Amino acid sequence: MSNLDRVLATLRQRLGPGGVTEDPAIIAPRLREWRDRFHGRAPAWIRPASTDELAEVLGICHEAQVPVVPQGGNTGLCGGAIPDDSGRQLLLGLDRMNRVLEVDADGGSLTVEAGCVLARVQAAAREAGRLFALSLASEGSAQIGGCVSTNAGGTNVLRYGTAREQVLGLEVVLADGRVLDLLRSLRKDTAGYDLKQWFIGAEGTLGVISKVCARLHPLPGPLETAVVGLRDPATALALLGVLRDALGNALSAFELFPRQGLELVLDYRPAARDPLGRPQPWYVLLEAESPRVHAEDGVLSGVLAAAMERGLVADAALARSLGEARGFWALRDELSAAQKHAGPSIKHDIAVPLSAMGQFIEEATALAGRLIPGCRVLAFGHVGDGNVHFNVGCPPGLSPPVFLARWDEVAEAVHDLAIAHGGTPSAEHGIGQLKVGELARLRGGTELELMRGLKRMLDPRGILNPGKLFGA
Ligand SMILES: Cc1cc2nc3c(=O)[nH]c(=O)nc-3n(C[C@H](O)[C@H](O)[C@H](O)COP(=O)(O)OP(=O)(O)OC[C@H]3O[C@@H](n4cnc5c(N)ncnc54)[C@H](O)[C@@H]3O)c2cc1C
Repeated sequence: MSNLDRVLATLRQRLGPGGVTEDPAIIAPRLREWRDRFHGRAPAWIRPASTDELAEVLGICHEAQVPVVPQGGNTGLCGGAIPDDSGRQLLLGLDRMNRVLEVDADGGSLTVEAGCVLARVQAAAREAGRLFALSLASEGSAQIGGCVSTNAGGTNVLRYGTAREQVLGLEVVLADGRVLDLLRSLRKDTAGYDLKQWFIGAEGTLGVISKVCARLHPLPGPLETAVVGLRDPATALALLGVLRDALGNALSAFELFPRQGLELVLDYRPAARDPLGRPQPWYVLLEAESPRVHAEDGVLSGVLAAAMERGLVADAALARSLGEARGFWALRDELSAAQKHAGPSIKHDIAVPLSAMGQFIEEATALAGRLIPGCRVLAFGHVGDGNVHFNVGCPPGLSPPVFLARWDEVAEAVHDLAIAHGGTPSAEHGIGQLKVGELARLRGGTELELMRGLKRMLDPRGILNPGKLFGA
């Protein structure tokens, strides 16, 4: 009997039939990444139902040196939750640890198990008259543990910050099965190092998050949603400045996409509607809290009219109903799916300082065109946060495998350009398997040395998500 077989036998006995799934048909969808770029193998999907069971699983795996790959909703975009193809890594799911444990509306916090799906966390907060602010297009599947582990961003970062800013406390099970209880709801705590920060954005390499205590905000007032058409990304950034001056913290979303992206969505979703009368080169979807409900006399119309007079905005449409606002959001939310449907693309998740965003998009587009003539660039995303998903689509007529073989070359050039502008190759999706080489190349020296040191200290036998972040 192999080491792995012995561990599986013990886990079957300790967790019972619900805790160990070995049916290949059930496991199969969990062994492919959403974009289908990474595939792996695993003999079993281990599903503890409590922190105690999770601690037992990790203790057993640590003892036997059997690697585990934590997986949440498997919506991550860098292959971080996909095992390798050895068939010797166990998939560790938290879907049975999905309870809402406490909602403290007055105290402004909520405590949930890490396998709770994001949409459910949002609903629990809403039911208590509060807002849990993290919001992503994948929120129907992504789990809060996965979101914290990738330090996810999404469409509300402008006003409320990333996942990191939502976390007040964590419970984490360490590689050897010890439970680290940092589950405090405090706003202030300067008693030594803030250890929870190590696990936020660590992509399951330092510990498995089992519970999250998150910050709640007051529910915003009525929201105004608009789509504006404009010339170019630099103009969008100028508009952002104007909106911030006028609206301050009331502005919660500022999402940029080009005409080509809108056309992909219009092709992909027949129900989608072109929001403006005439095509525009670029669009911004923006949302702001408004003291008034009706768009005609809301705050946005005045600000946008002034921006139009200054030549920043070519055209604008304000949502006149919740349904129309949802329609605008669908145009933005469907971009990733529509692009996936349209064919392969080389993806980047760049952040640069806001002041460099316009120039970065212009230079990166020219760079991609030089490297792959005829490529179709789709640059879109949370530009209000300085974050752009700069995606290079396969030119018509070029075979996808030939195109995708150029991934590393294109990515290195685009990342170098981002770095030259003071940016990062990973704004919100993480490193996973996809950017292991880039992390080593671009964050070498003392920074990487300290990251590796932390990994060695917390996971000396290397059983937690091996191959991710640092490679084999
Ligand atoms: C359509 C679409 C839109 C998206 N939009 C956004 C967006 O706007 N912003 C954004 O930031 N991301 C976005 N994403 C990416 C993705 O949804 C996020 O990265 C999300 O945080 C992943 O959560 P998950 O539960 O699916 O994690 P998984 O994909 O399952 O795992 C992600 C990583 O976290 C680790 N992990 C998972 N659970 C735990 C745990 N409990 N403890 C320790 N480690 C764990 C895994 O090992 C892996 O390394 C999008 C994805 C899709 C498909």
